[in-house]
Amino acid sequence: DMQATPDYAAILETICAEVQPLLSQGKVASYIPQLSRVSGYHFGMAVYCLDGQTFAIGDAHQKFSLQSVTKLFALALAFSREGDSIWHRVGREPSGNPFNSLVQLEYEKGKPRNPFINAGALVMTDILSSRFVQSDIAVLQFARLIADENCIDFDLAVAQSERETAHRNYAIAHLMKDFGNLHNPVKTVIDSYCRQCSITMTCAELAKAGGFLAQHGTIPWSGAQILDASSAKRLNALMLTCGTYDAAGDFAYRVGLPAKSGVGGGILALVPGELAVAVWSPGLDHTGNSLAGTYALERFTTLTSRSIF
Ligand code: GLN
Repeated sequence: DMQATPDYAAILETICAEVQPLLSQGKVASYIPQLSRVSGYHFGMAVYCLDGQTFAIGDAHQKFSLQSVTKLFALALAFSREGDSIWHRVGREPSGNPFNSLVQLEYEKGKPRNPFINAGALVMTDILSSRFVQSDIAVLQFARLIADENCIDFDLAVAQSERETAHRNYAIAHLMKDFGNLHNPVKTVIDSYCRQCSITMTCAELAKAGGFLAQHGTIPWSGAQILDASSAKRLNALMLTCGTYDAAGDFAYRVGLPAKSGVGGGILALVPGELAVAVWSPGLDHTGNSLAGTYALERFTTLTSRSIF
C-alpha cells in the first residue's frame, strides 16, 4: 500500500465525537430480554493493525454480547475442519431477508441461504455438534485462541434469557430437522447456539480476534495458520455479501469492508492485509445492525481512505 499511515488515534477521536448525536436514535434489542438491560448510550471502537499497533476509544474496553458476531467464529471453525463439504448443507447467497426469517427455508427445502443468518448458523452449530463434544465450548475455545485472551467467556444469564424466548429459532431448527438438515437433537443445537451467542468480548479483544482474517488466515502474533489464504479470502467475501443480513448491499455501499454484525450492537470489519476494526454501540437500526456503529465504520473508511474498493 502506497498510502501514508493514517493518524488512527485522531480519527477515532473525531468519529467518537461525531456519533454522539446518533446514540439516542438506535433501538436496543429487546426480543432477548437480558439484552434490553444494556444502555443504548455506549460507544466503543478499537483498531488492531497487523503490525501490532492498537488504538481504542470510548467504551472499547467494556464487554458486550457478541451475538451473531460469533457466527463468524463458528463458520471459521467449521470451514477449517470440514472444508467445502459444509456447502452441501448451507448456501453462499445473501438472503435479502431479516436474520431470523423462516420464509426461504420452506421452498429451499431446509437449506439456509448462508451461514450468517440464524438458520445457517444453526446448521454450523449442528455440524460442530457432530464433531466436538460440545459445539459451544469448541467455539469459545476458538474465540480465546484467535483473541489471545483466556478470560473470554459466556454470559450465562444472556444464554438463558435467549433460550427461554427462542421460539423463532426453535421453529427454524424444527423445519430444518424435518428436511433432514439437522443431525443432532433440536434442543442440543438450540442450547449450544444460545450459549455461543452469549460470548462477551470488548472491542479491543474483538478487533484482535479479527486479525487472522485480515492477515489471510494466519494469526498475526503467533504465525499460526487457522485457514489457508484462499479460505480466508472466501470468508471475507461471505462477510461482504452476507455479514450484515439484508443490509449487506447498503453496508458495502456505505462502508466498503467485509464485516459481521450482531444484535448486541457489535460489528467486526476487516481491511485485508492491514487491520481489523471493531465497534460497539447497542442501539440498532431496523435491520438489526448497530446504527452508530455502521455510521462510525462509514466515517472510518472515509477518513482513512481505506476500503476494499
Ligand atoms: N442470538 C441472536 C438470535 O438468534 C443472534 C441474532 C443476531 O445477532 N442477529 O436471534
